[in-house]
Amino acid sequence: MPIARPSQPSDSSLPSRRRLLAWTTMGAASLASAALAGCSDSAHAHGAAPAQDASPSDSFSPAAPVDPQAASGLPSPAAASPAAVRTKPVFKVHDLLPNAPTDAVALTIDDGPSPIYTPQMLALLRKYDIKATFSVVGSEAHAHKDLIRQIAADGHTVANHTMTHPQPFSHRTAAQIEQQIVDAQSVIVDAGAPAPTLFRSPGGDWSPTVFATVAKYGMTPIDWDVDPRDWNRPGVPHITEKLMAAHPGDILLCHDGGGDRSQTLDALKTVLPALKAKGLSFVTL
Ligand SMILES: [Zn+2]
Repeated sequence: MPIARPSQPSDSSLPSRRRLLAWTTMGAASLASAALAGCSDSAHAHGAAPAQDASPSDSFSPAAPVDPQAASGLPSPAAASPAAVRTKPVFKVHDLLPNAPTDAVALTIDDGPSPIYTPQMLALLRKYDIKATFSVVGSEAHAHKDLIRQIAADGHTVANHTMTHPQPFSHRTAAQIEQQIVDAQSVIVDAGAPAPTLFRSPGGDWSPTVFATVAKYGMTPIDWDVDPRDWNRPGVPHITEKLMAAHPGDILLCHDGGGDRSQTLDALKTVLPALKAKGLSFVTL
């Protein structure tokens, strides 16, 4: 796929592609240490992630720079037509999928892929025949392309969750926001998944610039409305209780990356069959 920017550069102040790439190279290392340290999708989680979330195994490694060839997967105008700019993200299944079954809920799983937890998550979803939406971090996608391919092969949706998960995301410059989205899109496609049409902001942190950039690349911003704060490891009972409160139309948030997600997995072993037994059906976004 040719390297190309959308044909309608709406912001002439954006730096050149060369500068953007330079920013990526220079910024990756500094961002990396913080990237997944706060890798949680709670609006209240900024800077509050436990220290162990920054363990090397969870973080982008500056020693493994993104393959320049991956840039060949940059979205082109043909692959991603600009979409209408939204003023708020999608909070409910039927906001995005009006024809979904009335009892539909969507499970979203963020911050992976993780070589430890994503295979367990995939096995669990397979066991209960549930399709989910994985909001993946580009640096992790690049490091674990096999998992990206497996997620897609299993019928799950892969969403763009930025390249290095910087927080607070809306505080980044317009150029940085765009680069985070474009780079993640590139490596996800390079890994073998369909080009994402969904974008989730780190921490659910939105701004007009984020919305405009997401629309520029033809993506829809997605949020959630059931948050068990599993990223903070509050205990399996807490996670279970919060998820069991799901109602038809809810978008549920969980994590398979960014730290120890064993509590999340343990909770879902109970929650997934229980929600199905309550009559809820799981859909991908
Ligand atoms: Zn996240």
